[in-house]
Amino acid sequence: SSLAPGIASWRKPLFEDVAGDIAVSFEFFPPKTEKMEQTLWESVKTLEPLAPRFVSVTYGAGGSTRERTHNTVARIAQETSLAPAAHLTCVEASRGEIDEVARAYWDAGVRHIVALRGDPPELGRPFAPHPQGYASAAALVEGLKRIAPFEISVAAYPEVHPEAVSKQSDLDNLKRKIDAGADRAITQFFFSPESYFRFRDEAAAAGIGAEIVPGILPVSNVAQTRKFAAACGAGIPPWMDRLFEGLDNLPAARQLIAATVAAELCGQLYAGGVRNFHFYTLNRAELAYAICHLLGLRPKADQQEQAA
Ligand code: FAD
Repeated sequence: SSLAPGIASWRKPLFEDVAGDIAVSFEFFPPKTEKMEQTLWESVKTLEPLAPRFVSVTYGAGGSTRERTHNTVARIAQETSLAPAAHLTCVEASRGEIDEVARAYWDAGVRHIVALRGDPPELGRPFAPHPQGYASAAALVEGLKRIAPFEISVAAYPEVHPEAVSKQSDLDNLKRKIDAGADRAITQFFFSPESYFRFRDEAAAAGIGAEIVPGILPVSNVAQTRKFAAACGAGIPPWMDRLFEGLDNLPAARQLIAATVAAELCGQLYAGGVRNFHFYTLNRAELAYAICHLLGLRPKADQQEQAA
């Protein structure tokens, strides 16, 4: 052949065929300080033109952020065009208390809850339900549906939740959550497209018809991610450590690598048919924005101008 050596391993650019036909959502956490609040709002404003399906706000361990989650969600509802989703957990609260929080959301016009069991405030302790509380996310979904016709998202684990007795029991649990009325599952972060595709197939085989949206975590600090991953049953591949070697003092290089790795993952998911993505933004807009852009997504106003 006249092909140059090495051409056999050439592949066409991952983003050559993107058509902008994706839908995204963004996850934020409630800010603790004024400075963090400013960063959050700048990020929300930067991402808003991408017209996400929803933006969600997490709920701290043991309900520690109840007020802050509520205030952040309420402000998004009031000051932006975005549809906010409030995370809510079962930890250290009675059913009555949780129901009250949910009713307050409904009354404030919030129509979407990300329903979770949650983890005990001290890392590593086993979960023990409140004596009058909801014992699992599935029970919480049932409870929420009794209160109002919320749109509900739940958590899913491509690499199996660490407390699950087996992979099958974890899938059965996801099915219970969907059967109880959840509209979609959002996955824990993962770094290999195979683990997502396998999980998607297994869920379909288990009769789970709801969409399973991959949760994408752009990693720019591998040590921090490792701590978190250990607690939540996500694997960090050895190559990821190698990519960040020696870059502790080079934050811009780390950002570039974070974007490259996450964009590669999203590109492969896209090539495998995925069109909905959920981004764990850590309240920073740039990485999520850049990845959405690579996947062909453009600000809504630009699209309207082009159509006109
Ligand atoms: P569940 O679905 O109740 O499952 C918990 C475990 O119990 C699983 O191992 C499941 O297999 C098992 N199980 C449940 N019911 C049964 C049963 N009947 N029989 C046998 N096994 C059963 N945490 C927060 O504190 N705040 C947040 O805002 C937050 N947001 C998150 C967002 C996403 C997208 C994800 C993926 C996770 C989030 N978490 C959050 C973390 C989550 O709270 C933890 O992973 C928690 O340990 C499990 O919550 P769950 O809703 O998946 O629980």
